[in-house]
Amino acid sequence: METPASVWLRYEQLLFYAACVSHCWSVCLCVCVCLEGRRSRRRAGGGGGGGMRLGSSWRWQLSRAMRQALRWCRLCRRRNVGRVGGGGGRLGARLTALWRYGRLLLRSLYYNSLSDSDTLLDCAFEPVYWIVDNVTRWFGVVFVCLVVLLTSSVVIIVYLFVLPTILATYPLHWIAWHLCCGHWLLLLVVFHYYKATTTSPGHPPKDKRDVPSVSVCKKCITPKPPRTHHCSICSVCVLKMDHHCPWLNNCVGHLNHRYFFSFCLYMTLGCMYCSISSRNLFLEAYSVIETSFQATPPDTSPRESVAHKCIIFLWVLTSSVAVALGGLTLWHAKLISRGETSVERHINRKEARRLQEKGKVFRNPFHHGRLNNWKLFFGVETRRHWLTRVLLPSSHPPSGDGIMWDCTFTRSDPMAI
Ligand SMILES: [Zn+2]
Ligand SMILES: [Zn+2]
Repeated sequence: METPASVWLRYEQLLFYAACVSHCWSVCLCVCVCLEGRRSRRRAGGGGGGGMRLGSSWRWQLSRAMRQALRWCRLCRRRNVGRVGGGGGRLGARLTALWRYGRLLLRSLYYNSLSDSDTLLDCAFEPVYWIVDNVTRWFGVVFVCLVVLLTSSVVIIVYLFVLPTILATYPLHWIAWHLCCGHWLLLLVVFHYYKATTTSPGHPPKDKRDVPSVSVCKKCITPKPPRTHHCSICSVCVLKMDHHCPWLNNCVGHLNHRYFFSFCLYMTLGCMYCSISSRNLFLEAYSVIETSFQATPPDTSPRESVAHKCIIFLWVLTSSVAVALGGLTLWHAKLISRGETSVERHINRKEARRLQEKGKVFRNPFHHGRLNNWKLFFGVETRRHWLTRVLLPSSHPPSGDGIMWDCTFTRSDPMAI
């Protein structure tokens, strides 16, 4: 606890320090006055009448010394602020200047009248896109091998375990139906997958100069016909581009869009067929495997055990693929009914929103009615084509060249949009 004597002592110390400071201040002031006076005299002695006149006034000498002292004080205060409390302030000022400079630099590089939040997001996610593009490009072969391996394993299991059960237990007409349906689906799946993988999606001609175009691809520096988009994974422009499919290791475009959709459709149907056909076998195998974990497991041979595991693998795989691929097929069927591709769906939605704000209605120029869209998509010109071009393997080319597009189904007035 502090006594009054100690408090008084502290006051005494403070007074002593204050006296010292004032004493130092007056000494400094005197020294300054003397120095300044001597310098002024020296300048006056060698410098002419004007200097003599100014230097002879002691008031002027004093005021000048006072100004000099004040300047020193200001300088010292600035130095102290910089050392003690102003370090953060000076750093903050430098950071602010750097931020302003960086922002100006960024704006001068990227800003134009079309810059918006989408452009900024695209720029921000450019490294992510680069990684995804490269991973998709390099893993495309792996995905194709995976599709081939899984499809082959399903076919082998069906031939080894499901078909013998059908042949042994089902009546003759059901056996005939299973043989026809199963092999028809297998043929269509293999055919369309092979064609979708090996057929080029179609690219704009590079040697022609009179190609109708709506813009110029900033990556290829070539004219872009309507419905053409650049694939960043293949690094090439694709006619009527839908998307880049890693499971095909190929772009889906004008020339192979039908193969892609038919593959999705028949693969979904094939998976549904396998899942439904092997449902009873799956339930049986599941109950056997479930009882094998009990105290007295059933006596099963190694071959039966392998068969049960294969059946479970078959049912789980085909059911999950049927659900996932079925959803994708339905989505693409909806787009085909609207006369759109996956890329155009996003563009058209944005355009429709923009026009709606202006009180206008967006119309897709490539929409010719649902049935006509499907006919154009499958290349159906006669009724027989529904059988020969849709339900059976067919390698006929799509309608149109992918460069000129009609606004009407009759193709009476072909025009580029
Ligand atoms: Zn391009
Ligand atoms: Zn591609």
